[in-house]
Amino acid sequence: MPVRTEIVAGAGGLLFPVPAVSPASMANSFADARGSRSHHAVDIMAPRNSEIIAVDDGVIAKLMVSAKGGLSIYEWNPDRTLVYFYAHLQAYAPGLEEGQTVRRGQVIGYVGTTGNAPPNTPHLHFAIAQVGDKDRWWGGVPVDPFPIWR
Ligand SMILES: [Zn+2]
Repeated sequence: MPVRTEIVAGAGGLLFPVPAVSPASMANSFADARGSRSHHAVDIMAPRNSEIIAVDDGVIAKLMVSAKGGLSIYEWNPDRTLVYFYAHLQAYAPGLEEGQTVRRGQVIGYVGTTGNAPPNTPHLHFAIAQVGDKDRWWGGVPVDPFPIWR
């Protein structure tokens, strides 16, 4: 699976989604195996209820509750070429809803362990996908966000 960092690296970069954590302290888990598949995301370990901010201006595409991701958010970037995915949230920011415009840096949720995250390992699972269809917030080609924050 190609790593398309150049797609976002030229766009002024992205904020790091958990301000309580320094990206310099993180290991890149993008290429790690998760079962038979690659992870294609980064796991940002942080105290439970740490604030999660929007990495970019955009629109909330979908608020999803699933067995794996738990409470999760899909956010479109402004031109709907990228989707940012935030998972295992403890809670959404109050009033957050689908179709809502969010600003870069706005608090959208809180770190937790919902879904299949280990109960004593609160973290944000964060992923970026490049999508080819402006109505599809799912699927897409994984982009490694890690080099952007370096
Ligand atoms: Zn993960």
